[in-house]
Amino acid sequence: MVSAIVLAAGSGSRMKSKVPKQFLELDGKPLIYYSLARFEASVVDEIILVTRQQDIDYVREEIVKKYDFSKVRNIVPGGKERFESVSRGLKAVNRKSDIVMIHDGARPFVTNSMILDSISNARRYKACTVAVPVKDTIKVVDEDMNGVETPDRSTLYMVQTPQSFNKSLLDEAYKRLRVSGDRNITDDTMIVEKYMGQTVKIIEGDYRNIKVTTPEDITVAEAMMK
Ligand code: C5P
Repeated sequence: MVSAIVLAAGSGSRMKSKVPKQFLELDGKPLIYYSLARFEASVVDEIILVTRQQDIDYVREEIVKKYDFSKVRNIVPGGKERFESVSRGLKAVNRKSDIVMIHDGARPFVTNSMILDSISNARRYKACTVAVPVKDTIKVVDEDMNGVETPDRSTLYMVQTPQSFNKSLLDEAYKRLRVSGDRNITDDTMIVEKYMGQTVKIIEGDYRNIKVTTPEDITVAEAMMK
């Protein structure tokens, strides 16, 4: 059984808008609609949707019921940081699930083939993420903004979501993370690396699988939809 945790509990502060970004409209539908629709139409068995506490009623009525997303089994309140939202979502996952996928609700262009590749790689390697090769040269800088290192570009990938895991592995990683009090976390693959020593398989993503973060991204996303 496969569960997908779809994250939509961010405040969207970089969007400079009163409406949280996950509810901003893209071609007439709220941003979060698109990733939910892709998971709903996939082989995934259940979706756990994580939103801010104050948005739960709105999301249930205006998105889940309105668009008939029957795989959304639970809508749970998120936390202050992304990893805290994942942690709460994880607790709501069906006990029978063996694979958990985590997806940024703000990435509307996730495809069915990404979902299928993620599930098979998670079954085979226990942890995987969708990613794309870095196009620009990357600099590591010090606190004075001096470049201290130029990593070999051919070894660098930009990590996207979905990120998919064997459920027991992810449960144990989060248990250790909670005990540690570590808050320096930007995604889930780094948690299984750090707390479980788990190698994460990188699978080919798509440059179009953008995270809609700033107002400019809305324009780009609408153009890509056409
Ligand atoms: O803020 P960022 O762009 O990294 O957010 C990535 C995804 O994680 C978004 O879909 C956002 O709604 C979600 N998120 C969350 N809970 C938070 C912060 C972000 O669910 N506390």
